[in-house]
Amino acid sequence: MKEDKNFNKRLAAIGMICLLAVLLLNAFVMPSLRTASVVETNYSFFLSQIDEGNVEKVEIEDDLIKFQVKNADGTETVYSTGRMDDPELVSRLYEKGGIEFTESFEEASPLMDFLVSWILPLVLLAVFWSVIFRGMSKRMGGMGNAMSFGKSNAKMYVKAQTGKTFADVAGQDEAKDALVEIVDFLHNPDKYAEIGASLPKGALLVGPPGTGKTLLAQAVAGEADVPFFSISGSEFVEMFVGMGAAKVRDLFKQANEKAPCIVFIDEIDTIGKKRDGSLSGNDEREQTLNQLLTEMDGFDGKKGVVILAATNRPESLDPALLRPGRFDRRIPAELPDLAGREAILKVHASKVQTEPDIDYNAVARATAGASGAELANIINEAALRAVRSGRKAVNQSDLEESVEVVIAGYQRKNAVISQKEKEIIAYHEIGHALVAAKQKNSAPVHKITIIPRTSGALGYTMQVDEGEKFLMTREEALARIATLTGGRSAEELIFNTCTSGASNDIEQATKLARAMVTRYGMSDRFDMIALETVTNKYLGGDASLACSPETAAKIDAEVNAIVLREHEKARSILSENIAKLHELAHFLLEKETITGEEFMSILSSEAPAMV
Ligand code: ADP
Ligand code: MG
Ligand code: ZN
Repeated sequence: MKEDKNFNKRLAAIGMICLLAVLLLNAFVMPSLRTASVVETNYSFFLSQIDEGNVEKVEIEDDLIKFQVKNADGTETVYSTGRMDDPELVSRLYEKGGIEFTESFEEASPLMDFLVSWILPLVLLAVFWSVIFRGMSKRMGGMGNAMSFGKSNAKMYVKAQTGKTFADVAGQDEAKDALVEIVDFLHNPDKYAEIGASLPKGALLVGPPGTGKTLLAQAVAGEADVPFFSISGSEFVEMFVGMGAAKVRDLFKQANEKAPCIVFIDEIDTIGKKRDGSLSGNDEREQTLNQLLTEMDGFDGKKGVVILAATNRPESLDPALLRPGRFDRRIPAELPDLAGREAILKVHASKVQTEPDIDYNAVARATAGASGAELANIINEAALRAVRSGRKAVNQSDLEESVEVVIAGYQRKNAVISQKEKEIIAYHEIGHALVAAKQKNSAPVHKITIIPRTSGALGYTMQVDEGEKFLMTREEALARIATLTGGRSAEELIFNTCTSGASNDIEQATKLARAMVTRYGMSDRFDMIALETVTNKYLGGDASLACSPETAAKIDAEVNAIVLREHEKARSILSENIAKLHELAHFLLEKETITGEEFMSILSSEAPAMV
């Protein structure tokens, strides 16, 4: 029934377009067609033709005279000429006699005219449309789609079609609690109505990429047992102004018909960006956003339509969208903590064959800062590695290797590195490790390797904390900077030169020292002053300066002073332990990869007699 109604609407739209086209055709094209056979000539020719008695008909318009001449061979030609100020013209024509005065004489017949200017274009248009229509419906696999401008293409799920449940989402307990409540409301609205609580209209999932926002929404769809409309913000973005708004309208209309139900808008920042007063404002986007705001106000909260949305750029959203009554709830999906990472690893490991005695905690500790998506990737890489080495199940070493693959890329087995360079790399890495081990506030060394990786790293030192760290003290930050400068310090100390291999260390040390000065208030020169503000917290966290140029210069000086001090400290640690530096570096050169335990046992053993 509904399909028919839509079809009629579409038919009416086609009719309107045809009519418009015909009108335009008549207004602009037809007149020129009609006068196409008229030959332009001059006034004296006109007079001479009158005198010769060849003129049969004359039509006098405001500034134009048209006349029909009978040629010598019996054919007729219509001429036109400009109208002169010639008061005697009429009497001259009259005197000549036998000349017909008409108003318009070219038309063969009114019926023919009507056919040509109205029916023919309509027929042509109809043919044209039917060709396009057929082509489109063939391409889109159904006539229903052919004219679906402004129709939302939300995918509708009913129970369990996504196949995901809350059990698939590990960690993210706060987010899950909030969503469970919403699902519960949709199942037992009476329980809440008794107290008078009303359903939150919308909930906004915010967090960095890969933390499971889309996954959470799919889990809600799997659990909710009500219709679930899922659409991505970019699908509202259309070429024509007004089409996005029409899609929003259509989506909410469908949702209202299916209530209670859930509408999920992924990546809502594409349509929900702040409206600003700039001249280059995007009309289409603004209209779409306005329509969304109106629709969210419009529907009845008791009816049971819940809007879920996800974004990783909450700060760019329009404040109107975030006010209570629209998205009342903000559900953070942060990067997982240690327990969360372990749980996520286990959820994904349950989908692959593993050996029984796997220490997921160790893997979780080595992956601080990894998102759920990265952890899922680590499990998959481990499974692929197991297949490659012909085993039937994933073991611990697969997991440890795949952590490194995800962090630093694959091993470059056939990279040719000269002995001299290998030596420099070994001293560089041991420099890092030794400085880390000789400071109190530094995480233990987990692994040192000089096998090059596809990311461009020629070797690296992995440090892994014992437990989860939420805060960083000033001492820890300084120790970290000293550790980062340790590699370069070893090069300077042993080879009396420096290499380009420290570029990544420099980058990290600068970033940390800068953050200490501008954001953490850990420098001697500035107090608790925010000198930088972070934009895009969830997407890399770029910082922008919020101070005068003079202060900026002081910041640079302070950052340099911090790094310089720590670099000095690292150099003195290494020169105090230069015997160990040599011993460890040679051990590493020989083995290429050493574990934290091997490193510590050599470090704490009695120094061998120098030879
Ligand atoms: P986003 O937050 O960018 O929308 P997704 O929901 O698309 O991230 O997550 C991508 C993938 O990462 C998921 O399909 C899932 O495999 C994995 N993942 C992310 N977070 C979790 C989690 N908390 N538990 C289990 N898997 C997760
Ligand atoms: Mg997503
Ligand atoms: Zn380094």
